[in-house]
Parts: sequence; structure tokens; C-alpha cells
Amino acid sequence: MTSYKAKAIILKTYKLGESDKIVRMYSAAGDVISAVAKGARKIHSKFGGRLELFNLVELEVTKGKNLDIITQAEILKSFKNITSDFYKFVFCEIISKIVLRTQVPGGDSSPLLFKLIYVCFNEINNTAQEDIQALKIIMCFFEIKFLRIIGLMPLLKNCSKCNKQLENLYSFTENRIYFSVKYGGVLCDNCADSLPVKEILNVSDYRFLYDLFNLKIEDFRDIEVNAFTLKKVYRLIEDYILYHTECDINSFNYLKKLGI
Ligand SMILES: [Zn+2]
Repeated sequence: MTSYKAKAIILKTYKLGESDKIVRMYSAAGDVISAVAKGARKIHSKFGGRLELFNLVELEVTKGKNLDIITQAEILKSFKNITSDFYKFVFCEIISKIVLRTQVPGGDSSPLLFKLIYVCFNEINNTAQEDIQALKIIMCFFEIKFLRIIGLMPLLKNCSKCNKQLENLYSFTENRIYFSVKYGGVLCDNCADSLPVKEILNVSDYRFLYDLFNLKIEDFRDIEVNAFTLKKVYRLIEDYILYHTECDINSFNYLKKLGI
């Protein structure tokens, strides 16, 4: 039987039969792995608590007919603050859902996406408790970088409908920048006039969106963004992901119910 080693982050687990567990992960090589851990739910399982959600693990896996089988697992990093904090847990669950809804085993490999998941889990793990504002910023960061990795990033410099180059919007002082979720980016005034449905961003919304694309995670730790802009951009990116990917509304509903 063929076996292989993998370093992966656990994104979802399911019960299987009496005592087994199916583990869905994203590997450092950039693939979705689904594998069974036999007996993992038994009290004296050889896996102990190693195959828990959001752990980064090193695995030995044997290729199976339908599902691969995990034969060994070691923890490389466990994000303990995530599983002990309700809000952190829910945000990480959304990240996991977005990845598993849009990536399939054997699909395009993306080691960059693995790095992004790791960086965001690590950041969420280190965030102060119940700092929803910080969690939402990390979420925006994840989603925008994710869109860039899968090639669906919104156009922020050219009109997304007619491709006209727009003057430097970043230093634009007028508070009306049009954005279309459907066309996938900003709009020139002419195209905005012809579309009944569009978002109107002010300069601070636009700058935050632009910065999300261009800055690294460490630049975000002290970023100052006002609550209105964060709320608006957070919703805008969510709508964008729902419109342009296979994610469904349920991935986001839970936080909505909590008013977040
Ligand atoms: Zn246009």
C-alpha cells in the first residue's frame, strides 16, 4: 500500500461509525486532504487529542480505496486560545468553511493558501479575548488575500465594467467611489449611472479595502479603522465572496445572528 507524509491544518472533523473520525485538512503542499483516523474517538486512542480542530499536524497517511487512512499524527502547533474562545472559534470555522467550500481534493494546489490560513489562525489565536473588531479585521484580511490567491480579486484601479482607468482613488477626496459586487470592482461615473445596484464607498472605506490588498498581516496589528468603515467593508467582502464563489450564506449566518 502506498503511504505518504503530510503537514496539514485540520479544518473540519466528522464522526464516522462507532469510533472513527474523518478529518479534513489543508496541507502545506496546498491540497485538501480527507482521511480517516480509525478508533480516534476511543478513550485510549493512539491519536489522543492530536486530531482536534485547527491543529497543525504532521501525518503519515496510507492511500485507501475511497478514503485515505491516517496511521500516525504529531502536533506541530496547537492554537489553544482558539478552541477556548467562542468568537475566535466561530471566525476560524468560517475561514475553514470558505476553504473547504471552494477547494477540492486534487484541485489547484496552493501552498500560499496554506500559509494564509496558518498566519490568520496564528493571529486570531494571539488576539485579546472578545476583541471582535480585531477579529473582523483579520477576517477581512483573510478574505481579500484569499480572493487574490484564487484569482478573483476585485478591480480597484480600473472601472470593472468598461475598464477605464480611474484617477488615483486613494488620494481622492470626494466621498463617492462606486463599487459593483456583480462586476467585481470600482466603477467609473458613467457606468455607475447605468447600474441600479451599486455600493457607494467613501475615501476611508476605499483606502481600507486597498490596504487589505497591499499590506502584510504585521502591518494590520495597529491599523486604525473606524467602526463604520470596518462594518461596511466587512459586509462588502462577504457579499463579494458569496456572489463570486461556491460559498453559501450559511457559512456566514451564525455571526449575523449574533449581530456581528
Ligand atoms: Zn466604466
